[in-house]
Amino acid sequence: MNRRVVITGGAGFIGSHLCEYFLGKSYDVLCVDNLLTGSMDNISHLSGVKGFVFMNHDITNDLQVPGRVDYVLNFASPASPVDYLEHPIETLKVGSFGTHTSIGLAKEKGARYFLASTSEVYGDPLVNPQPETYWGNVNSVGPRSVYDEAKRFAEAMTIGYHRFHKVDVRIVRIFNTYGPRMRLNDGRVVPNFVMQALHNEPLTVYGDGSQTRSFCYVSDLVEGIYRLLVSDYVGPVNLGNPEEWKIIDFARHIIALSGSRSTIAYKPLPQDDPKQRRPDIALAKRLLAWEPKVGLDEGLRKTMGHFLKQR
Ligand code: UDP
Repeated sequence: MNRRVVITGGAGFIGSHLCEYFLGKSYDVLCVDNLLTGSMDNISHLSGVKGFVFMNHDITNDLQVPGRVDYVLNFASPASPVDYLEHPIETLKVGSFGTHTSIGLAKEKGARYFLASTSEVYGDPLVNPQPETYWGNVNSVGPRSVYDEAKRFAEAMTIGYHRFHKVDVRIVRIFNTYGPRMRLNDGRVVPNFVMQALHNEPLTVYGDGSQTRSFCYVSDLVEGIYRLLVSDYVGPVNLGNPEEWKIIDFARHIIALSGSRSTIAYKPLPQDDPKQRRPDIALAKRLLAWEPKVGLDEGLRKTMGHFLKQR
């Protein structure tokens, strides 16, 4: 009998890649999504694939799944700053109630629980790169707190269930990830810059562009997630690409790579925008023998091709 995985947020950017990955490893996949920021377009190619089932459902209310479950992967949440600022209450609810219902399912089934957490738990970090041992610098009443604090709470609930109910858990802290199936209008820097460059429009750099991010291609992330899931380390573990870019240099790089005639347009920096972000992946390297393999230019070219089709 095939092993069975429940993936919440399975119609989202990362969730849909996970659905594909697990089907490829002959798992049965139950993809749960309320399509708030996810899309049927991300999974339509999976309908009819043996072992794949889609359930249109909001996990903030409850999560009932008949039958055996081996793994519950919780990837349900708006995840781009534009999305979670547009859906602040849904973001708080899915991070809190949604974590409760999904870890409750894992407990009931005796399944392993896997929480998708985020580099946002480090807030505007005062330590760079960020190791898992860093406790972070989060403004609990700032605009980003609806996401940051929801995910911090989700980590606390996950580890609480592990300690008090003996649920087997894993926690990943995902750093900026890009690739096919990001929504063109999710407001993140990769779709914004790539689409602007392809249209020869000015690239909108927020602030002076000196803030940094590090970009991981989605297939690298998915491989790391799988290795962490089947490892015996409770977590949390950072997954991301440690190559750090100033946003202004990233903008210029995308213009050059795409052969665009775009210029740069400076816009105000959003409040509490982290000034630096780069994962310390020493733990993932040691535990999982994992590190990113896809270089930025290769990943960006694949992503551009996909965006052109999606447009
Ligand atoms: N950013 C930018 N122009 C854009 C979109 C984003 O300069 O059109 C900057 C943003 O201010 C941040 C970085 O790019 O410093 C990454 O933003 P994103 O929304 O992708 O994700 P974040 O890492 O902030 O969650």
